[in-house]
Amino acid sequence: MSTKTLRSVVFTLLVTILPVLAQLRFVLMSREVVEQRLQSYKGNDSRREAALKTMFESSGCRGNNLVEQVVKGLKQPNLICVLTGSADSTIVVGAHFDHVDAGDGVVDNWTGASMLPSLYQSLENQPQRRHTFLFVAFSGEEQGLVGSQFYIESLASPELAKIRAMVNMDTLGLGPTEVWASRSDPGLVRALNGLAHALNLPLTGVNVDNVGKSDEEFFVQRKIRTITVHSLTQETIPILHSPKDNYAAIHLSDYYDTYRLLAGYLVLLDEKLATDEPPQEKSTAQ
Ligand SMILES: [Zn+2]
Repeated sequence: MSTKTLRSVVFTLLVTILPVLAQLRFVLMSREVVEQRLQSYKGNDSRREAALKTMFESSGCRGNNLVEQVVKGLKQPNLICVLTGSADSTIVVGAHFDHVDAGDGVVDNWTGASMLPSLYQSLENQPQRRHTFLFVAFSGEEQGLVGSQFYIESLASPELAKIRAMVNMDTLGLGPTEVWASRSDPGLVRALNGLAHALNLPLTGVNVDNVGKSDEEFFVQRKIRTITVHSLTQETIPILHSPKDNYAAIHLSDYYDTYRLLAGYLVLLDEKLATDEPPQEKSTAQ
């Protein structure tokens, strides 16, 4: 691990707006690290997947905890980083890494994919993490949500039943954080909104139903609670799948704000969402 990736700041939030927020403490990677990862985009999807794998490994997610799931019909696999918690229940954090050739695909969606290792590090540093977090970089989103559909279909019913929430990130950094409320669970949106207020970070609801769907779709179909975070407005939609989708389109301070908000949000969800009993407690309770 390089010294740069170790550089992080501890952020302590003391507020009284919501009881659960009374003392939310979480670790943030530095802006420098988050931006370096954003700058490491590659022009083809195989190289993007390899770059992400290297980032996860240098973040500490490696060995049996980092899985390349071969996806039927796709050249690139889904990349899954598992961060085990004390409970059996899971929270999926997803972002697709593939892109269309019209632009560099930095906005859509290296902004989401390259944030996964930094979110992993924020959670990894949480001392009493309960849920198991699954950080999934999906392949083949632009070919019709192929990677996320395959991922869902690869899960047996007990695995599906363990998922408490799916947080989907697609197209960040074009401006302040947006939530696609019409495709998100109202309770998850309320929690994100409360946190944004508490942290004094911007968040608005912008529904972009005219751009289609993202990787939350097959989770929604399985009745899993999802929330999709983006940064699009009706004005910036034309950047998608165009030569304007490049690094220069990113507003770096907005992008880092989105990372701060999501890092806190995952810690909040870990505290707020119900978990199963840890397996050993279940068996002794018999
Ligand atoms: Zn996308």
